Amino acid sequence: MSEIVEIRVPDLGEFSDVEVIEVHVAPGDSVVVEDPLISLETDKATMDVPSPVAGTINEIKVLVGDKVSTDTLIVSAIVTTEVGATPKDDLEDTVIGDPDADTQIAEQEETNLSATSTTDVGATFGGKPDLKTRLVVLGSGPGGYTAAFRAADLGIETTLVERWNTLGGVCLNVGCIPSKALLHAAKVIDDALAMRDHGVSFGGPVIDTDKLRQWKNKVVARLTGGLTGLAAQRKVNVLHCEGRFLSVNHMVVTGPKGATILEFEQCIIAAGSESAMLPGLPDDPRIIDSTGALELGDLPDRMLVIGGGIIGLEMATVYAALGVKVSVVELTDSLMPGCDRDLVRPLQKCIEKSYEHIMLATAVKEVTAGNKGIKVRFDGKADPGLQTYDCVLVSVGRKPNGAEIDADKAGVYVDEGGFIPVDKQMRTNVPHIFAIGDIIGQPMLAHKASHEGKVASEVISGEKRAFDARAIPSVAYTDPEIAWVGLTEIDAKAQGIAYEKGTFPWAASGRSLSLGRDEGMTKLLFDPSSGRLLGAGIVGPNAGDLIAEAALAIEMGCDAEDISLTIHPHPTLSETIAFAAEAFNGTLTDLYIPKKKR
Ligand code: FAD
Repeated sequence: MSEIVEIRVPDLGEFSDVEVIEVHVAPGDSVVVEDPLISLETDKATMDVPSPVAGTINEIKVLVGDKVSTDTLIVSAIVTTEVGATPKDDLEDTVIGDPDADTQIAEQEETNLSATSTTDVGATFGGKPDLKTRLVVLGSGPGGYTAAFRAADLGIETTLVERWNTLGGVCLNVGCIPSKALLHAAKVIDDALAMRDHGVSFGGPVIDTDKLRQWKNKVVARLTGGLTGLAAQRKVNVLHCEGRFLSVNHMVVTGPKGATILEFEQCIIAAGSESAMLPGLPDDPRIIDSTGALELGDLPDRMLVIGGGIIGLEMATVYAALGVKVSVVELTDSLMPGCDRDLVRPLQKCIEKSYEHIMLATAVKEVTAGNKGIKVRFDGKADPGLQTYDCVLVSVGRKPNGAEIDADKAGVYVDEGGFIPVDKQMRTNVPHIFAIGDIIGQPMLAHKASHEGKVASEVISGEKRAFDARAIPSVAYTDPEIAWVGLTEIDAKAQGIAYEKGTFPWAASGRSLSLGRDEGMTKLLFDPSSGRLLGAGIVGPNAGDLIAEAALAIEMGCDAEDISLTIHPHPTLSETIAFAAEAFNGTLTDLYIPKKKR
């Protein structure tokens, strides 16, 4: 059984603010009782502070020159006691379970390029681990669980460490899935309302937030529970603990049963990201992040969404459909910065009609919490003057968890923003430690994380793999949806990349009109010399599903003819992709476009 023990300065009697003149230990050092930890000097004497325990130094809390007094925390140490059935025995019984694992590991190591890698950075740990594992995956989001499951399928004995009670990370618990469940409810409400103008009327929606929340939670529980089952089927050892590095091959994992030292041969860091908060906001339950918004408490009357990016606008879509008066403030001069303006325009037009304010090129200057609401002052082009809201949703991006896992003890480089740089094989600067998902950089998307997870595990198993995607699609599940993949016009112009485009307005799509919608558009960007597809953007219902065809076309190096000569079913929205390619080719018959390119 391992335990983290805090060691403090003993009673110094009359002395206080005594200077530390030497620190005798470093993280990873083994100490026995009475080994000196630090030396102190008063004007009368010099004294050592001895270790009261035997164990391994985890963290040093003081530096030479610091002033300490009685009870100042000086180090934390990991103490291992071998009493009765050790956690190691407990864990090994429940975990590994595969009698052939050792043989498989030995076989893999012969062919595994990374298994023999060594590193001279990071701390060392001289103590005895409670548990050994071939591969530890830190974090069970779409990156982590995919990596762990793929590794297990490749015969690698794997331990998955997750601090939350359920698997699935942000995506399943507080991200993609709950947001899409609530967005579905919003769509049903909006679609029903829209039919009023076409001869089908229902009464106004009656919103039972408790029931809606329960349904959303059920969807989440079904998926996270499914992951638990999949982990068990694959004999992945799941530890619901918080993990932090202790050395290049050790992690301390702390859960309800205490701390366990885990020795690993290889590691995949998949610890993800969390909502970023604006500095200086009052600590008030009416100021929430996306997780708070997805909890769906009592519906506010007026809500401000700070940040006009994808997550903020998706949450705005939900709350507006549920009857909340929504305003959005965005610092830049466009919603969804980074996305081409012509794709954003139809969404902006649509929400301008139903939201209270859309404030672009405007900053939040001051936020104060009052009895009657949250008072907000703005600064910028669309400043509406002092406003009071019942709820403020802060959606200003996400920050990676790189700084939260003691990566330095493993020698893993974390940049100033908290990201962990990796190469195309997902390897960090420490060859046997890999990183994937939000923690390695943009775009912070679940499908990027899961693909990276597979690459990391396949590389670890000795396969020649690299993350080499030509394009990663992005989708905003707003109404209308916006999706894009590959080159955007903004990027092409900024980087001087030559392109020509074919566009098809959905006002000419029979399928779109039969859905009661005419604002959509499909746009394809082609390389003028090869005719190959470089990028695509779609706005309109189901754009998120449609963009997959363009992603495949980019990966396969398709040109405009490959797309336009592929027979698309009629009447579907997918036809608009073929029509945009025809528009580029000059073969489109569903619209008259005078200038033929070919
Ligand atoms: P995460 O999902 O962040 O998982 C990391 C896991 O690591 C967490 O479970 C965390 O508890 C665990 N962890 C962290 N530190 C430790 C530690 N020290 N010890 C143990 N465990 C630890 N993406 C899309 O592609 N499509 C969408 O529609 C979409 N919608 C979103 C909606 C919202 C509201 C939000 C917030 C995000 C959305 N995203 C979406 C982004 C998506 O959720 C993330 O890109 C994705 O979850 C990242 O996966 P990941 O595996 O890198 O990490």
